[in-house]
Amino acid sequence: MIYNRITLAFPEKEEKLFLDKYFLDSLLQVRVSFIIVSFLYGVFGYLDSLMFPEYASLFHVIRYLFVVPVLLSVFFLSFTRAFRKIWQLLLFLSLIIGGSGISIMIMHVPENYAYYAGMMLIFSAGYFFIRLRFLLSSIAGWIVLLVYNLGAIFYADSPAITLVNTNFFFISANVIGMFAAYSIEYSARRNFFLNYQLDNEKLLVEYSNKNLEKTVEERTNELLLAKEAAETINANVTAIIEGTQNNIWAFNKNFEILYINHVFQREFEKTFGVLLSPGISLIGSLPESMRPLWKSRYERVLNNEQFTVEDAIDSGNGIVFIEVSFNPIVKKGEVVGGSCFGEDITDRKLSEIKLKKALELAEESDRLKSAFLANMSHEIRTPMNGILGFSELLKNPGLTGDQQQEYISIIEKSGTRMLNIINDIVDISKIEAGLMKLDLKESNINEHIEYIYAFFKPEVEAKGIKFTYRYSLPAKESVIYSDREKIYAILTNLVKNAIKYTEEGAIEFGYLKKGDFLEFYVKDTGIGIPENRQEAIFERFIQADIADKMARQGAGLGLSISKAYIEMFGGNIWVESVEGVGSTFYFTLPYNVARENTLTPKDMQDYSTLPNISNEVRGLKILIAEDDETSGILLEIAAKMVGTVILKAGTGIEALETYRNNPDIDLILMDIQMPGLNGYEVTRQIRQLSTDVIIIAQTAYGLAGDREKAINSGCNDYIAKPVTTAKLLSIIKKQFGNSTWRIDKEKV
Ligand code: ADP
Repeated sequence: MIYNRITLAFPEKEEKLFLDKYFLDSLLQVRVSFIIVSFLYGVFGYLDSLMFPEYASLFHVIRYLFVVPVLLSVFFLSFTRAFRKIWQLLLFLSLIIGGSGISIMIMHVPENYAYYAGMMLIFSAGYFFIRLRFLLSSIAGWIVLLVYNLGAIFYADSPAITLVNTNFFFISANVIGMFAAYSIEYSARRNFFLNYQLDNEKLLVEYSNKNLEKTVEERTNELLLAKEAAETINANVTAIIEGTQNNIWAFNKNFEILYINHVFQREFEKTFGVLLSPGISLIGSLPESMRPLWKSRYERVLNNEQFTVEDAIDSGNGIVFIEVSFNPIVKKGEVVGGSCFGEDITDRKLSEIKLKKALELAEESDRLKSAFLANMSHEIRTPMNGILGFSELLKNPGLTGDQQQEYISIIEKSGTRMLNIINDIVDISKIEAGLMKLDLKESNINEHIEYIYAFFKPEVEAKGIKFTYRYSLPAKESVIYSDREKIYAILTNLVKNAIKYTEEGAIEFGYLKKGDFLEFYVKDTGIGIPENRQEAIFERFIQADIADKMARQGAGLGLSISKAYIEMFGGNIWVESVEGVGSTFYFTLPYNVARENTLTPKDMQDYSTLPNISNEVRGLKILIAEDDETSGILLEIAAKMVGTVILKAGTGIEALETYRNNPDIDLILMDIQMPGLNGYEVTRQIRQLSTDVIIIAQTAYGLAGDREKAINSGCNDYIAKPVTTAKLLSIIKKQFGNSTWRIDKEKV
């Protein structure tokens, strides 16, 4: 702090503070000093009267009218507000007035030393007692001295020497007073300044203390909040990491585990038999063979690479596909480890594979569909062309009888071929719809073989191919409990194929008994089947040679129908084939032996050549209930071979009426689909009239269940349309085979 060396002033702000303090500190002393000084100035007036009565009145005027009132006024003013501003000035004036008063008295009575003493008192009061500041007290002191000297020079008549000598004392007193006042004020100011500095520093310290405390508190709160946030985050992250079904782990630069969730711990232990925990080496825990790959992956992460890999791992319970994402852990710009997130994607992978397979299948089936459509169209058009073309030719009136017969036979063959295709399609639809049922009965296998042999022999031999059959069980044991129609269909199919695909050599078929199964085979020396097609040919619409599909007739349904039948029986079908050498188709059927001797002569006559029937069964009275005219004509032709009287009805009601009027009817061929009363209903009503009459139902649907419905409503048998003469006669023979005696009797 820089003082003004003369005024001792501080800089403005501090000066003001100092003056304020100085005033407050001085106030009491000012009042006390002014009371005392007034008192002394008043009391010494007594001396005036005692020693210089001639001047007493003048001196009393000075004392009591000037000086003492002034001093008392200052005392009283010290109680006002304004005093603070003018107090030094008032003190200054008081000193001058008091000093001047004494000076006047000295001038009048220079010989009286008491007044000089009074003067010294005034000086000492001015410099040390009344609290006038150094500069003002000095000026006032010197003014008083000046007044004294002016008085001594111009006014006093006393010896100058006294005045001058005394003057030296006064000067000295002033000089001492000045120094003393200077040093008093100086030290007061120094004290003030030191205190002030101390206070300031104290304030500063207090302030910074407070600040520090606040900062510490703030920091503590921040830390607490941060800790809480960290705890919350930690809890959340743990919940997520431990709640997931995925594998999560992290490792440091030494490939040691930093963190591992329970799922990964469990899975790893299950797969590799090692229980991982923090601190354990990841690489070391892996089987030897996997280490290099995983090490290189972990190293990539430590090189600050982020990536995802897919992997297949043998978990001991089969292959597990996983997808692992690797992420570097970076702290302050430096990679300190890596974290891994592994997901079991086996399901996804499997469905991808399945999807791909399904797609391939769909594409394949698309290709097949096109091939099938082209094939079907060919298969249907060819016979249609035959039928339409030769029907057209037949119209020609100039044809010879032989030509007519030839055309008709072509039309017949074409019709049969078309029917076969339609039958196949119907069969496969039934199989697909789950409507195909087994109709289990005693079936004589040896007879099937013989029949098929007899049936196809002419065709095979016409092609110049050797045709043989073989069966291994004696007749008695060759009767099994099975669906004979279906066995017949299967064998027919295979033999037909063998003939179709063989141009020379031999065809052999038959069966062997193998354990609880009969193993059938159909062997040919035909074109063979490429190995990669040997499975596919058993599927619907598939032919071994798609490219050359037009080569041979067929819709690719035969084998799949056969396969479905065989599987219904609980058997198996397969092929062994070498391209260009030949094929052997095998199939197995369970060997369910039928009850012995239950075979009736009726059964034995199955599949016998048909035209002979008419020799045995004849002279029947037959009712044909059929609303369709063409079908009616066909039935009539067949019926005429066994009947003598043929009646016809176009509706259910008509059929019922006709029967009522002709109760001696032997056989009714009952169409099921008739307007009004349907065939089932008519049959039911007729059964109330007679249980004897043979009723054979004919339906156009060919669905499983038709037979049951027909039998349940009271029919003896059932025949699916289209009705061929052979089929019809075979059934008629079945029904009347045992009753020839009745017919004969009637004849008698
Ligand atoms: P298709 O009516 O076409 O003969 P199949 O289902 O009976 O229908 O046979 C499917 C395919 O299997 C045939 O198209 C043929 O390519 C092949 N195939 C069947 N049997 C034989 C065989 N004996 N020799 C060679 N190929 C055969």
